[in-house]
Amino acid sequence: MNTQPLWLEEAVTLETQAPLAKADAVFVGGGITALSAAIPLLKAGFTVQVLEANAPLSGASSRAFGNLDVGVSVSNSALRAQYGTQLGDELWLEAANAAIELQAYIARCQIACDLDTSGHLKVAFNSRQEAGLVNEYHELNAVFPHSQAKLVRGQEVSHYWPGRKATLGFFNPLSATVNPYKFASALYAQFLALGGHYSAYCAVKQVRPDKGEGYTVVHQAGHTQAEHVVHTTNGYTSKVSGALRQHILPIGSYIMATNPLSEQEYKAFTHPHQVVTTAYHFKQYMRLDQQRRLIFGGRLGLSTGLQEHKVERELRNLATHLLPFVDIQSSHVWGGKLAMTRTMLPSMGALAHKQYYAMGYCGRGIPMAWWCGIKLAEMIVQGSTRNITSFTRAPNQSFRLLNLIPLRNELLSGYFYLKDRAYREFQ
Ligand SMILES: Cc1cc2nc3c(=O)[nH]c(=O)nc-3n(C[C@H](O)[C@H](O)[C@H](O)COP(=O)(O)OP(=O)(O)OC[C@H]3O[C@@H](n4cnc5c(N)ncnc54)[C@H](O)[C@@H]3O)c2cc1C
Repeated sequence: MNTQPLWLEEAVTLETQAPLAKADAVFVGGGITALSAAIPLLKAGFTVQVLEANAPLSGASSRAFGNLDVGVSVSNSALRAQYGTQLGDELWLEAANAAIELQAYIARCQIACDLDTSGHLKVAFNSRQEAGLVNEYHELNAVFPHSQAKLVRGQEVSHYWPGRKATLGFFNPLSATVNPYKFASALYAQFLALGGHYSAYCAVKQVRPDKGEGYTVVHQAGHTQAEHVVHTTNGYTSKVSGALRQHILPIGSYIMATNPLSEQEYKAFTHPHQVVTTAYHFKQYMRLDQQRRLIFGGRLGLSTGLQEHKVERELRNLATHLLPFVDIQSSHVWGGKLAMTRTMLPSMGALAHKQYYAMGYCGRGIPMAWWCGIKLAEMIVQGSTRNITSFTRAPNQSFRLLNLIPLRNELLSGYFYLKDRAYREFQ
């Protein structure tokens, strides 16, 4: 069994360089957020250095399932309740538009990343899950009345979804999928073509303010002087951006790909490339690729770094439970870290003068990383975080035990694992 992401089977060699001694902007972490911010900066004439701790694009950006989901993992009504109607709506709309804008960008720039616009179907198996889907449907329809989103019930659900009998389905035609590695490598190629510098295996150890302006970024290969420093490390936080650790929680997410399904198994799917997501508290998501392989993902708990054979067994059991007519034979199993925030919204803004960050996309990271990257570039060029994105107006909240004691993310994993187990409902 292969423990590398399926996408890396078609990986190209990504050229990297020795780090510069000086750059206008230095990025800590080299995934989609860094590259989508760096491209407009390079176009604006900045010298840009990306420092990546591991292989190029080896973080979540090449490990994702590939969903381009519309919206964030929190409902419009919950955002309104927390931030008031105006900001609540702005937050929801900005997040929803990010996925739509990204699809348009991929199409406009003809980025070859297997963009598939077959839409998403979310299925419910009990009345509580149904209520959540009905709410999601109404919220999407209120903002995008021409989206052709629909609720499907009874026999019609099995037309969309041949697996375990669901009681309700919510079909969202606005959500899409990509091959995340192909998308990230297309950004990488554009970054290099514009003269950007990307140094792999070059972990940042410290960011030190200089006496005058700017920073010294200390890394594995020495140091780089920077006018601006940008933290784009996703859930891979460390003491380099220690202030973020109280509100960014790295959690594990895992994916399995199977050998190609038989002709007969494949024929059972009327919409084979459409993503199907369960409405469980721990969601599972699945789709078939062009080679008839089932790609199946889900959070098994909040722990990062679970052993592959355990992950394989659990994901295979879950997939068999949801698709009992398929003989699940896994070929690839991999995992990675994604970053959660307490608000369930992306966290971005300024850490210090000319020091910025964006992370915490709560599983919506392909559209959010791309979008927040563009917004980071605007902040750097304008020298301000004001009026650039609604996300900076929803303040960060630290994770707290019993809503009182602030917790560092090491302790949180255990706390959230126990909390989430209470919701777990694999009937
Ligand atoms: C298994 C899995 C499935 C997912 N599925 C989806 C999905 O279907 N749809 C979706 O929208 N999102 C999904 N996500 C989330 C999405 O992949 C991420 O949110 C997004 O890729 C984050 O991009 P990024 O550039 O911010 O971070 P990354 O791509 O993770 O890049 C951050 C980089 O920072 C580097 N780094 C860390 N510390 C240092 C340091 N000190 N010095 C230098 N470099 C450092 C890391 O090595 C890493 O490469 C998934 C994530 C995982 C793990």
